[in-house]
Amino acid sequence: MYKVNKNFLKLPGSYLFSTIARKIREYQEAHPDEEVIRLGIGDVTQPLAPAIVDALHAAVDEMASAESFHGYAPDLGYEFLRELIAREDYQARGCDIAPDEIFVSDGAKCDSANIQELFSQDNRIAVCDPVYPVYVDSNVMAGRTGNYDPETGTWSDVIYMPCTEENGFVPELSPYDPDIIYLCFPNNPTGGVMTKDQLQRWVDYANKNSAVIIYDAAYEAYITEADIPHSIYECKGAQYCAIELRSFSKNAGFTGVRLAYTVVPKALGFYSSSIGNASLHDMWARRHGTKYNGAPYIIQKAGAAVYSDAGKAQLKEQVAYYMNNARIIKEGLTDAGYKCTGGVNAPYIWLKTPDGMTSWEFFDYLLDTAHVVGTPGSGFGPAGEGYFRLTAFGSKENTERAIERISKI
Ligand code: PLP
Repeated sequence: MYKVNKNFLKLPGSYLFSTIARKIREYQEAHPDEEVIRLGIGDVTQPLAPAIVDALHAAVDEMASAESFHGYAPDLGYEFLRELIAREDYQARGCDIAPDEIFVSDGAKCDSANIQELFSQDNRIAVCDPVYPVYVDSNVMAGRTGNYDPETGTWSDVIYMPCTEENGFVPELSPYDPDIIYLCFPNNPTGGVMTKDQLQRWVDYANKNSAVIIYDAAYEAYITEADIPHSIYECKGAQYCAIELRSFSKNAGFTGVRLAYTVVPKALGFYSSSIGNASLHDMWARRHGTKYNGAPYIIQKAGAAVYSDAGKAQLKEQVAYYMNNARIIKEGLTDAGYKCTGGVNAPYIWLKTPDGMTSWEFFDYLLDTAHVVGTPGSGFGPAGEGYFRLTAFGSKENTERAIERISKI
């Protein structure tokens, strides 16, 4: 008789977005004439930029001809894209990253969930609290998290590093000696960032303690301030301790197109006489080669267009469009007396709920009175309680109307 992976059964239901959807549905049934504005989702809404659409069309035409048809893509990514990424995203910033340290994939969600396969069961993970839930859930599936406490929504073997108003939404160096440290900056959901000095301290800590940092830089394109690092490899010694995840979803509107990459430096790993050469680069290459058959040629060509002059200019405008929404939200809410952070280097605004309301109480209040939907902070971890996430990914018109409504209440 087959046996199941019991770790899956330990996972609590994914209540956050299903509860939000149910509450909106019930509200709309009871108030069919009210128009609900959604500022809760983390999905982009602007259409693909023309340079990307042109590249997609051209690649489809190539696929339609016997001379230029492409079958399976190289499982680590086409050279033309890996070279562009290495040059434009890293070498141009002074980071010594080579094309063969880049692994192209179809999403940072899968990469961030899959990367834990490289590590043995007995590693301790540390995550920011609040946290993008994939990091924790993928480790639960692998049995690396201990027991669930439904009261706090936490796992006994996971080190939660609170990111609060007091520490500026930047985690403090963990006293618990984690082996694997997940950092996401600019942060989802808080919109917080680390300065280069702060990140350097984490890199030094990881190198000193032989830990690995998994650095999720999915929102790198939204950085506007000069002292905020775009990549962890801007820090000295990061090639010995860090894996970086990047996505084309938020900088280029690829959420429905699917393209991402992971950087695993060749310097990352160690030699031990008992197990031999443990190169994380070689292990990830092996995993990719075995379990993945490459992102589609058409999509990788579209990815290359992101780095063209036209692509860069159009995407700069697209990011600026969302960041203008972020400014509208942040300024409007601040004027209305709310306390909020984020929205300067990230498309997320993290709002402190007023009058000691819980995150869900504020959700209900906002839906009832302003007919605006956001995401309760408590859904991202215990330190998210008393906070609320609004996103800049809507249209300008809806963003303005939503903030007008909130200001009136
Ligand atoms: N990482 C973070 C922090 C995210 O917020 C998201 C999506 O919202 C992802 C990764 C997923 O990116 P992708 O669309 O490439 O799977």
